[in-house]
Amino acid sequence: MKRVLLAFPFLLLLGYAFATRRTATHNFDEIAPGVFFVTGGDQVTVGSNSLVVVNDDDVLLVDSHISPAAARALVASIKSITDKPIKTLVNSHYHYDHANGNQVFEKGVEIIGHEFTRRKLLGDVLHEATYVNNAGPGNQQWQITQLEKRIAAGDQEAVGQLAQLKRHITELAEVRPIAPSVTLTNKLTLYRGKREIQILFLGRAHTGGDLVVYLPAEKVVFTGDLFYTGAPYLGDGYPEEFVATLEKLKGLRFDVAAGGHGPLVRDRKQIDFNQQYVRWYVGQVKGFHAAKLTLKEAKAKLDFGSYKKFAQFQLNAPGVLDLELARMYRLLDGGE
Ligand SMILES: [Zn+2]
Repeated sequence: MKRVLLAFPFLLLLGYAFATRRTATHNFDEIAPGVFFVTGGDQVTVGSNSLVVVNDDDVLLVDSHISPAAARALVASIKSITDKPIKTLVNSHYHYDHANGNQVFEKGVEIIGHEFTRRKLLGDVLHEATYVNNAGPGNQQWQITQLEKRIAAGDQEAVGQLAQLKRHITELAEVRPIAPSVTLTNKLTLYRGKREIQILFLGRAHTGGDLVVYLPAEKVVFTGDLFYTGAPYLGDGYPEEFVATLEKLKGLRFDVAAGGHGPLVRDRKQIDFNQQYVRWYVGQVKGFHAAKLTLKEAKAKLDFGSYKKFAQFQLNAPGVLDLELARMYRLLDGGE
């Protein structure tokens, strides 16, 4: 009996072959039976990762990509994985790179999000500072210039990337924000056949309504932009609450975390690292604020030191640091 018990987990590992499946536009990495971590391939700009959960009778999708075109490519790719219908879409949060594809699911799919996400997506998100700075014409031109420089230097790969970027910019024109039709503020559990899918709000962090999608039996969690292997964007965030929210993430029993960007995370120590980063960042900015430094002075003083690689988005993309610092100052001044 004891031998059987010992052999059981081993057989489970041997008995199930996890494989990556590729379509023209997407990679599907099966991280548990029927649970796919989805990343974009070369053919379409997806902007963020998704999670696809194939249940007994239907499919649940988490996050809808950066454009309706990317979402349509995702729907087509899912059809090559399963013939079951997509019945549910969860928005991890309201940001454009995760929710711009919502309109593709407007009819026939239940869209679930935090109450905060619904409020945001009913508002004028396409004119908010984050969208204008990180996805607007200025940013687009900056990206084009970067690629043109690489092409001038003989980088052949950049030629295709520039063509794709230009296609993506045209595709953005059709975006029409669509809000979730089902909302939650704390927890919602879906039971789909044998599968239990928990949709959890662990606290404010990257936005006011970050949700994680947790499969307790499979020990898988999709964390959106609350947690991945890069520095989180704090321009719409709650930096002082971020560390505590990440602490709650540690309370979930999972073996693999699928983030909204970057690769899968299996090392839970990454959560400690992200916490240290946010703590360091907030500590610095609090000091600058207390010393009455202007935003310009604060930006000049901020030295990312050992976090330079981690905070590439902050250090490379124009305007990101300014938005983050302004956000932290506004919160420290008692604003929302
Ligand atoms: Zn985000």
